[in-house]
Amino acid sequence: MNILLLGSGGREHALAWKLAQSPSCKRLFAAPGNPGIAECAEIVTLNASDHDACIDFCLSQAIDLVVIGPEAPLVDGLADSLRSAGIAVFGPSKAAAQLEGSKGFTKDLCERAHIPTGAYVRTTSLDEARGALTRFDPPYVLKADGLAAGKGVVIADTIESAEIALADMFSGQFGAAGAEVVIEEFLEGEEASFFAITDGETILPFGTAQDHKRVGEGDVGPNTGGMGAYSPAPVLTPELQRRAMDEIISPTVETMRSEGMPYSGVLYAGLMLTADGPKLIEYNCRFGDPECQVLMMRLQSDLSELMMSCAKGALGGASADFSDSTALTVVIAAEGYPGTPEKGGAIDLGAAEEQGAKVFHAGTALDGTDLVANGGRVLNVTAMGANVTDARAAAYQAVDAIDFPSGFCRRDIGWREVERESR
Ligand code: ATP
Repeated sequence: MNILLLGSGGREHALAWKLAQSPSCKRLFAAPGNPGIAECAEIVTLNASDHDACIDFCLSQAIDLVVIGPEAPLVDGLADSLRSAGIAVFGPSKAAAQLEGSKGFTKDLCERAHIPTGAYVRTTSLDEARGALTRFDPPYVLKADGLAAGKGVVIADTIESAEIALADMFSGQFGAAGAEVVIEEFLEGEEASFFAITDGETILPFGTAQDHKRVGEGDVGPNTGGMGAYSPAPVLTPELQRRAMDEIISPTVETMRSEGMPYSGVLYAGLMLTADGPKLIEYNCRFGDPECQVLMMRLQSDLSELMMSCAKGALGGASADFSDSTALTVVIAAEGYPGTPEKGGAIDLGAAEEQGAKVFHAGTALDGTDLVANGGRVLNVTAMGANVTDARAAAYQAVDAIDFPSGFCRRDIGWREVERESR
């Protein structure tokens, strides 16, 4: 089959790498791609927000399947446009992508389907939001309803700081995404990610992971898109995974189907493992970045076939098999990230991949033939091991083989699990 992959990050490099390994993948195109993706796909110029151009490309190149990596084109309805032109797509419709595109939508769905999550109030004005704050205890969790590139969530310790944050949110800093603000109960526990792929009916568990959102070691400093991840996440025991499937994922997929918004694609649940069991923090309608990188390292099944089955509503009977080994990825970011990252820094990957590690490109570019930094998160250095401790040692060995003077990384990825493993 001919496949078009949309996106340009480390997530898409990992997807491209895995799709290209599939015997049934004849030609793999990617737009806009990056220098790493260019090693396994034909790069084409296409703008995902130009639906007609995407359709024309697919028809002219006999594309059998489109894989949409990031959330924005999904929330924007690209999957619907492609499907209406008869093109198979891995990724949810605009209606189904509301699970990520509107936090209020997801909270209401949780209420209707009795899915465990924090108590919440949806508010549409500053006055209403201020009033609602009194119904919660600190810390206050405030979320812009729509997509805000990971910057729309504030956790405020005091009512005064919550009010300031609400005023900022309603001032229009997030545009339409901030026209509504969800205030929710603060959940205590350890966070973990649970993935499933579904065609709207059949649901296959698709692995677990734990990421590291803060820029600094020990989980301090500003939030980022993610500084590293590992999979599987043993903190999600088989029993907790069963509960996540039965209490969260299955009722979501069933409710979406029964309400005429069948969900197809990958459903990524951000969970809080509370004393009462797993509770939903958020849904994402695409793979996590960098969680995808560790899932792809472990995936043993044919990704192209699985995605096509998913897109065709034929997932029944399929299976998703993963290696029992652990994969761990370390993000190397450019100095300045998550503020203003320094662009153009020279990168020499050296012998990083010689011991079996894989370096996925995120924000890289070519300056002539030289590889340079071209974004905040630049490289995702990914390795396997028998457990998190081993995978981490292998990943940092590969990190140390890379010469990237204007880059930095956290040296403690996987620390929670490494501590548990050392006990
Ligand atoms: P992402 O960048 O992961 O897509 P997002 O902007 O969509 O994030 P959430 O995942 O909903 O937002 O929240 C971001 C982070 O805030 C969570 O990973 C979690 O650490 C924290 N958080 C969110 N909701 C809660 C909650 N109810 N209780 C405790 N912490 C929370």
